[in-house]
Amino acid sequence: MLHQQIDQKLSEKKAWALRRQLGIPNNKRLWVLACMDERLPVEKALGINEGDAHIFRNAGGLVTDDAIRSAMLTTQFFGTKEIIVLNHTECGMMTASGDFLSEVLHQKGIDVDRVNIDPSLPELQLPKGFFSKWIKTFTDVDAICVKQVELLRNSPLIPEDVVINGYIWQVESMSLRRPYERLSQKVNTSEEMERHTTN
Ligand SMILES: [Zn+2]
Repeated sequence: MLHQQIDQKLSEKKAWALRRQLGIPNNKRLWVLACMDERLPVEKALGINEGDAHIFRNAGGLVTDDAIRSAMLTTQFFGTKEIIVLNHTECGMMTASGDFLSEVLHQKGIDVDRVNIDPSLPELQLPKGFFSKWIKTFTDVDAICVKQVELLRNSPLIPEDVVINGYIWQVESMSLRRPYERLSQKVNTSEEMERHTTN
């Protein structure tokens, strides 16, 4: 009967619209922390669709206070059981040091030691000299990915049974890999093998 199909569609629509009020988690019970870079297509990289995940993006795909805030909410209150960190090759956060960027801002007349980092919470002040650290630049994408997973695992605000993994998106090949697993090196040179056998 047609009305059954219509009723089914209407109840699905209601469940979608009222997900948070009804305590329905996202489809994959997944929270993703990813860099904001335009070359990182999060859904495509993970093979997920609309409705599958809560996705948090910032410069670098790094564990910041707001990332922790969002991870805490999704895992403690919105039914999320899994976290995936997505960093990527040729990230803008590897192009300059925090000190350099702070200096550029300083030259533009911004007092980096006194600026409000969250205009809605003026109480939140960085100690003097911390602005460079707060920017969180890095030099090695594999190391930073492993580190973000570790930071999330060690956060007391995220339940211990949440499964956390990190992956690297390679912008040069538009494909995913695990940290330190560089297939492109292995198929092009025997260096890796030599390194392993001589160690
Ligand atoms: Zn990036």
